[in-house]
Amino acid sequence: MLFKTTLRTALLAVATVVALPAMAQQNYAADSITIRKIYDNALTSYESYDNLRYLTKKIGNRLSGSPQAAAAVEWSRQVMDKMGLDRVYLQEVMVPHWVRGEKEIGRVTNSRAGAADMNIAALGGSVGTGAKGISAQVVEVKSFEELEKLGKKKVQGKIVFFNRPFDNTHLNTMQAYGGAVDQRGGGPVAAAKLGAVGVLVRSMANEVQEVPHTGSTRYQEGVAKIPAAAISTKHANQLSDLLQDDPQLNFYLRMTCETLPDVLSYNVIGELKGTEKPEEIIVVGGHLDSWDLGEGAHDDGTGCMQSIDVLRMFKELNIKPKRTVRAVLFMNEENGLRGGLKYAELAKKNNEKHIAAIESDAGGFTPRGFGIDGTAAQFAKAKSWHNLLTPYGLHDLNRDGGGADIGPLKGQGTVALIGFRPDSQRYFDYHHTEIDVFENVNRREMQLGSASMAALVYLLAEYGF
Ligand SMILES: [Zn+2]
Repeated sequence: MLFKTTLRTALLAVATVVALPAMAQQNYAADSITIRKIYDNALTSYESYDNLRYLTKKIGNRLSGSPQAAAAVEWSRQVMDKMGLDRVYLQEVMVPHWVRGEKEIGRVTNSRAGAADMNIAALGGSVGTGAKGISAQVVEVKSFEELEKLGKKKVQGKIVFFNRPFDNTHLNTMQAYGGAVDQRGGGPVAAAKLGAVGVLVRSMANEVQEVPHTGSTRYQEGVAKIPAAAISTKHANQLSDLLQDDPQLNFYLRMTCETLPDVLSYNVIGELKGTEKPEEIIVVGGHLDSWDLGEGAHDDGTGCMQSIDVLRMFKELNIKPKRTVRAVLFMNEENGLRGGLKYAELAKKNNEKHIAAIESDAGGFTPRGFGIDGTAAQFAKAKSWHNLLTPYGLHDLNRDGGGADIGPLKGQGTVALIGFRPDSQRYFDYHHTEIDVFENVNRREMQLGSASMAALVYLLAEYGF
C-alpha cells in the first residue's frame, strides 16, 4: 500500500513536469510574494482570534437547535456583513433538536468497594433513561464480534460496555479515532438486538482523562432505542478493573436527554465574486454548530473563523480572486449534517459549478498540509504548487481528502474535496468535551491555518482546478 502510493506519487511528479507547459501560465515568483503577504498578514492579525473569543466566550457552545446556535448564525452573518463582501446570505435548513437535560449520573455499586461515581456524558441523539434511571449488570466487550459471541443469553437485561481503546501506535490520531468510533455509532443497535438495556462507550481519546467525550450515535428502525453514554477513559479503565474483581457489579445510569421537534436554522455564507470566471466557485468552510459541552473552540470554531479570515485577508491585501470564493459556515455537522446536505442540494438545483471545496474541521493546530479527493490531474496540479507551500510547513499532500460538510458535493462536476490537515496530536484531548475551550487554541497556530487555506484558495482562484 505504502509502496504503491509512493510509486504513484513519483509517476505523478513526472507527469506534472511534462504537463506544466500546457497549464495556464503560472508566475511562481509573483505567487510566492502574494503567499508571503498572506502569511505576514495572518501572523500579525488578531481579528480572527478575537472573533473566536467572542464566538466561544460570549455565545458559547452551539448545538443545533439551541439559542446559542441561532445567536452564532446572526453574529457571524453580521461579522461578514461588515467586511464589505460582494454578498452575504443565509440558507434555510431544518435541523434536529436534541437536548442533554440534567447532568447525567453514572454510578457503580460494587460488593467490595462500595459506590463510585463515573464521569459520563450522554451520546448525542440518545434516548433518556427516565427520571428514575436504570440499574443493571455490566458486560464488557472490545468488539462487535465479541458481543455476538456472548449472545442473547449473556447480554439480555444488561448494560453493554464497549471498551476498545484507541490504537496509539498510529502517528495520525484520526486513524486511531477511525479504528474505535464504530463503537459509538453502532454500539446501541448491536447491543439492543441482543436485549441489552443500555450502553456505555469508552470515550474517543488517546489519553487517560477525566472528561467524557460525547458524539453522535445511531438507532435503527425496528430495533429498541436504548440509552447510550460515553464514559471517560480513566473511568473506563477503572470500570474494567472493577469488573475483573466483581463481574456482578451494578451500574446505575440516569440521563434525561431527549429529542424535540426539528428547528429552522441556517448555513451562513459570505462571497467574493470572481473577476474573470465568477461562475467557477471555490468553497472554504467549517461548521458553526458544536457539541453542548465546552465551547466548540477547536471543533469547529477555528474552522469557521479561519474561513471568514480567508475573505478578510483577500479584502485587506486587495487580492481580487479570478474565481468566486465563498466562506461557508455549515450548520448541524455534529448530529445530522443537514447543512452540508442542504448546501449541496441547492448547489445542484441552482446549477452552480464548484471547482473545489476546502474544509477545516480538524482543529486549529499547526498546519501540515491538505488531503485532496479529486482527479489525478487535480492532484498533479496541487503537487505542482508544492514548492510554494512547503516553506510554510505544508508538506503533506495526499489523496485522502474531503470533509463531512463538503462531502455531499461529491460528484457535482469535477469538484475536488479538500481537507485542511493540521497536526493531529492534541485534537482528541479536546474533541467533543468540556475542555474544548478558547484557552486551548493558540493564536499563531490558528492563524497559520487561515493562511494555509488562503494560500491554496488564492492558487485555485488564480489557475482553476
Ligand atoms: Zn467538527
